[in-house]
Amino acid sequence: AAKDGGRGRYHFYAEDLHAEAEARSQLEEDLRDAITRGELQMAYQPVVSTATEKITGFEALLRWHHPVKGWISPQRFIGVAEDTGLIAQLGEWALRTACADVARMPAKLRVAVNVSPLQFANPELPTIVTQAIAQAGIEPSQLELEITESVFLSDDEGTDAMFKALKGVGVRLALDDFGTGYSSLGYLKTAPFDKIKIDQSFVRGATQEGSRNGAIIASITSLAHALGMEITAEGVETLDELELVRLHGCSHVQGYIYERALDADAAITRLQSGLVAVARGPKASRAPR
Ligand code: C2E
Ligand code: MG
Ligand code: MG
Ligand code: MG
Repeated sequence: AAKDGGRGRYHFYAEDLHAEAEARSQLEEDLRDAITRGELQMAYQPVVSTATEKITGFEALLRWHHPVKGWISPQRFIGVAEDTGLIAQLGEWALRTACADVARMPAKLRVAVNVSPLQFANPELPTIVTQAIAQAGIEPSQLELEITESVFLSDDEGTDAMFKALKGVGVRLALDDFGTGYSSLGYLKTAPFDKIKIDQSFVRGATQEGSRNGAIIASITSLAHALGMEITAEGVETLDELELVRLHGCSHVQGYIYERALDADAAITRLQSGLVAVARGPKASRAPR
């Protein structure tokens, strides 16, 4: 029976793999058309200063509304886009759209755009960034590129050269999802980051008794300060978490406690109603965006 069970499980596993592969190739096909059909949107999540409670900028997040399947999470389609090379086109569209949208905002705010390691490896990236900035008519310092530790897993020289080139363009650089990769800390000796973003997995549960997350947040924050970098806590959902990350010295906060990602018009309306962000209390229950 044990043997049968084993074989049965293997059988189901193989079927799952097959179904997953089919779903991914369907998704890939759909994604190719998504840009031209206007199914992609950028959504903007406010970044709030802990010192002033003012909105200092937004993180631009890709949204895909599939005509049949509805909203598809970037967790799912970014991976497909990276595997198929579509990320180049998608990433450029995201960059241009985010720059154009921040240019329309009623104050000179900052917009942060996620950059895939594959885009980062493309020598054309500084040119693409320069063009997006010029076309939108924003200042380079209004654009922040979010990069994950995974860019340090390959080719040191290419990575160094890309950092230099992007700094030359004048954009800001942020290290996203800090602490979740497999990279060493060696890159902090030279990589010119303006900001470190603490991943939400460290914020989640940080207020629970016996959690080590608070100690980890405090350490990352003092590391960032010592290196002259700003620090954003991601995924702050409750007042307790907000209090904790503020106490530990995080300069900025992003999370459902303030706002989810808004479409560009809603973000502008939000700014017109005042730059001060209001924490919503423990559970902000609104439609997922
Ligand atoms: P990320 O860059 O770390 O973005 C933060 C994610 O956390 C976003 O998820 C955001 O909606 C979510 N988030 C913010 N506050 C909270 C909170 O309080 N609670 C919880 N539970 N979640 C919160 P989203 O939009 O689903 O994006 C997921 C990931 O997809 C991003 O993680 C990023 O890695 C990737 N992504 C999104 N847009 C782009 C893009 O334009 N280009 C690239 N390359 N990747 C993107
Ligand atoms: Mg990000
Ligand atoms: Mg992140
Ligand atoms: Mg992420």
